[in-house]
Amino acid sequence: MLSGVRFMKTGWGFIGASTIAKQWMIDAVRAQRGHDVVAVMSSDLARGQAYADANQIGKAYDLVEALLADEEVNAVYVSTTNELHKDQVLAAAAAGKHVLCEKPLAVELNDAVEMVIACRKAGVVMGTNHHLRNAATHQAIRQQIESGVIGNVVGMRIFHAVELPGNLQTWRINKPQAGGGVILDIVVHDADTVRYLLGEDPVDVMAYAQNGGMASGLEDGSMTIMRMPNGALVQSHESFVVPHAGTGLEVHGTKGSIFARGVMTQKPVGEVEVVTDQGRRFLDIDHHNLYVHSLAKFATAIEDGGEAAVTGVDGIKSLAVALAVSKSAAEGRRVEVNYPDIPPGT
Ligand code: NDP
Repeated sequence: MLSGVRFMKTGWGFIGASTIAKQWMIDAVRAQRGHDVVAVMSSDLARGQAYADANQIGKAYDLVEALLADEEVNAVYVSTTNELHKDQVLAAAAAGKHVLCEKPLAVELNDAVEMVIACRKAGVVMGTNHHLRNAATHQAIRQQIESGVIGNVVGMRIFHAVELPGNLQTWRINKPQAGGGVILDIVVHDADTVRYLLGEDPVDVMAYAQNGGMASGLEDGSMTIMRMPNGALVQSHESFVVPHAGTGLEVHGTKGSIFARGVMTQKPVGEVEVVTDQGRRFLDIDHHNLYVHSLAKFATAIEDGGEAAVTGVDGIKSLAVALAVSKSAAEGRRVEVNYPDIPPGT
């Protein structure tokens, strides 16, 4: 390679001039050898151009079609508001671009299924950007559970009540049609975490939602009980209006318990303690950037085959749980999770 010439294998087009892209994802792409963000699409060209300039992105577009027609773009990252994901992902798949889409994949389950099938048919890699599976803490917890050290898991509790930062108090708290509200924002992550850590999909849920004074026309807090196929119960608490609770999770088994503190976060932090008859011990956690880890897996899937860290099907299933929570809270009853059939080989 000539010195001074940047070697590029994968050019990324970012659909959505979003906060998450600016805070984490642009750097995560650039941390992969041969990957760069070459274009961004915003519905407002002036804002998109300013965003591109501020983040050293070469091109700004105001139409998805224009970004997808750019031959330098091989993969897209979709981080617009949630109601827009579906059409943008379908267009990207039709253009033959690999797709990493933000959670929730869509606002409706059928839309998420359509997106995954379109990507499969197009033969492109598709991933859902649930970040928590990429955390060293969560990976260590899963390894502990799989090792059997805590015996059979009978219960799990998730503490994910936070204060939504002021700069994000926009569509999440006042735009139901954009997929706002704490359930599609945070419960969907917790559902994915449960599925990842316990290796099973919740069967049914009972939930309550509340308005704690921040959102309008939407819930900004929820508590849920999920029932797992093996009978384990999972309790979760999510909120936008709780500044000082701290986050974490506990997993309780017949031989031991796991206490993880500060782990429901975008940052590579937190601690994990395992308690058994042998005593208490903190795990040695070698923290790494969650989003860089997710992108590394995606890059490998493009270059060498394999899957994204969190697949499109994972995105569908975690959305299915969140939608069941929403329905349970609205109807005041137990709701079975509806996992759609996805035809093999599509
Ligand atoms: P933002 O509110 O920052 O961005 C969403 C859209 O709002 C952008 O696409 C942009 O539209 C518009 N927008 C953003 N900032 C401004 C502004 N200052 N003025 C006018 N319009 C603005 O959303 P987030 O980054 O918080 O979330 C985006 C997606 O990512 C969602 O799907 C969310 O669920 C997901 N997410 C995932 C996280 C994770 O860890 N996996 C964490 C946070 C969010 P345009 O592009 O048209 O300019």
